[in-house]
Amino acid sequence: MIRKQYLFNSKQLKISSKLNNLLSQENNLIDRNCIICNSYNYQHISNTDRYGIKYFTGICKDCGLMQQYKYPNNDFVNMFYEKYYNDLYSFFKSPEDRFNSRFKSAQYKYDIIKKYLKNNIKNSVLEIGCGSGGILSFFQTKNYEVYGLDYQNDHLDYAKKKNITTFSNYKKINRKFDLIILSHVLEHLVSVDDVLAKCKNLLNDKGIIYIEVPSLESISEHYHYEIKNFLHIAHVTHFTKKTFMNLINLKGFKIKYINSKIHAVIEPYNSENRIINNYNDTKKILRKNKILKLIFLPFLDIFKIIKKIIKILIYK
Ligand SMILES: [Zn+2]
Repeated sequence: MIRKQYLFNSKQLKISSKLNNLLSQENNLIDRNCIICNSYNYQHISNTDRYGIKYFTGICKDCGLMQQYKYPNNDFVNMFYEKYYNDLYSFFKSPEDRFNSRFKSAQYKYDIIKKYLKNNIKNSVLEIGCGSGGILSFFQTKNYEVYGLDYQNDHLDYAKKKNITTFSNYKKINRKFDLIILSHVLEHLVSVDDVLAKCKNLLNDKGIIYIEVPSLESISEHYHYEIKNFLHIAHVTHFTKKTFMNLINLKGFKIKYINSKIHAVIEPYNSENRIINNYNDTKKILRKNKILKLIFLPFLDIFKIIKKIIKILIYK
């Protein structure tokens, strides 16, 4: 069952059918080897995302990472983000809306981070995918030097107005940082390796990275326990806690903190790590969601009706 808020309006429907036509053309969709173990051995999960856009999802049988095994080529992805992403998925009406929402979310991140960051007089932070700078602005109130990287110019302009130093690409960054924040960024990237390697080079000695990615283990009420509601074309990978830890360890980092929502603090660490196969664990998580869906779905409508009755009684 697709949730009502995931049904498109007419403009979005036009865009999704245009995207599907483009994706049907030769060479626009390419086979992707597993981001963790580089094999091409998938259990197929879905042909489309939650809006019906072509989106081939599978679980890697050799390491358990759920991901896109066919995904648009880089030119297509760039064009998608420039032209269509905001119209399809923008949850914020303006850079200011996004700023306010991110600012509110920052205290939580700050409370985790401060336990793991060396206490310098003035720490520096770079947020990759900073948008309009809400998180950075909060860190500014805690006496951090703040820097943001993003590709969306209207959002970066807003961040500049808040006295945040901004970069529109990596090449322009000419210094190192005590902290790098990647909040809901990694799951969008085809080149996770490349970005993690860049982060490593941009860290000061004893620097740390704070990461948040959506977790397959939290397909709860928000997604009606339905895997399809969780999938959308902008996401390339779908982590569980175990597959995330596998990736991070293999790419030369140590996990200093991680919780069940996959909010994590990591630091560079050189050691030999072997790939762990979490295929059975990922399948178990998907099975658990299917069972929870059967149990809870009938009650969701009852909750909605009760909510409506309470509203009527209060606001009548
Ligand atoms: Zn794999």
